[in-house]
Amino acid sequence: MPNARFQYYPLKTPHGIAGVVGIRPGEAKLSAEAQRMIEALMDQVSTALERTILADEAADARASAEGEKLRSALLSSISHDLRTPLSSIVGSVTTLRSLDKKMTKPVRDDLLANIEEEASRLSRFVANLLDMTKIEGGAVKLGKEPVDVADVVAAAVRRARQTWPQREIVTKIAPAVPPVAGDAALLEQLVFNLLDNAHKYSPAESPTAVSVTEEAGQIVLRVADEGPGIAQDELERIFEKFYRVKGGDGRSPGTGLGLAICRGIANAMGGSIHAESPVSKRRGTRLVVRFPKVASP
Ligand code: ADP
Repeated sequence: MPNARFQYYPLKTPHGIAGVVGIRPGEAKLSAEAQRMIEALMDQVSTALERTILADEAADARASAEGEKLRSALLSSISHDLRTPLSSIVGSVTTLRSLDKKMTKPVRDDLLANIEEEASRLSRFVANLLDMTKIEGGAVKLGKEPVDVADVVAAAVRRARQTWPQREIVTKIAPAVPPVAGDAALLEQLVFNLLDNAHKYSPAESPTAVSVTEEAGQIVLRVADEGPGIAQDELERIFEKFYRVKGGDGRSPGTGLGLAICRGIANAMGGSIHAESPVSKRRGTRLVVRFPKVASP
């Protein structure tokens, strides 16, 4: 553009022209040397731009691959976890309807118990999914009330005993444990999730131990089972969303979300959670939750 007051330099990248730089030379014409220098400079700028564009594209691709992985893990987990109990419920109902009078009372009771159990499993599963999306979306407003851990544990244990009446739960709660700051309902959900896992991943006849103690200014909650335990290199990974130990018992339905939710709740209350295994005689898993106690007024 010979009549323009600016001189324009395209920023060329292998993807095409990424921009144009206009330079106003002032009175004197640019010397050949100055031109060469500007051109060299523009080359550098183009290369830098190209790198930035590529890095952005790579980051986008990574994010969408992760999102994709998450979505497909969620989908396969949901379809399995929703379908299994649903088909069992539908099967039981169909049998009840078609055989009706021909059925003995114990068989009928058995089918009804099965429907009840599978329906409550479904309901736990959906509740877990909802919790997770709420925690992730920041929709859960965590209360910051003083919470009596002993009370909350007692409530969760009561619920667990109703849910699994045949299982033994041994509790050991230190007297007068000071309160922690947080949300009683969410803490109860955390404890219940740990009890759920302890029961899912240990033999029916083995007991589950729950304890609450005060140690060095912290309130410590432990839930231990006598199941096969967790390998050393899985102890952290089990807190990842959708992570389930491969070759685990394989039959227990689950989403791999329970412990991610537990960690979300513990962290939101200023605490932490980790897993230990083995507990004794090369067996067992112990989940340990620590909370700072509320500072005295
Ligand atoms: P889910 O139980 O739905 O699979 P969790 O996030 O609660 O999801 O647990 C993740 C994985 O950690 C489980 O699939 C299981 O393999 C392992 N796990 C959790 N708790 C225990 C336990 N008490 N004993 C053995 N394995 C466990």
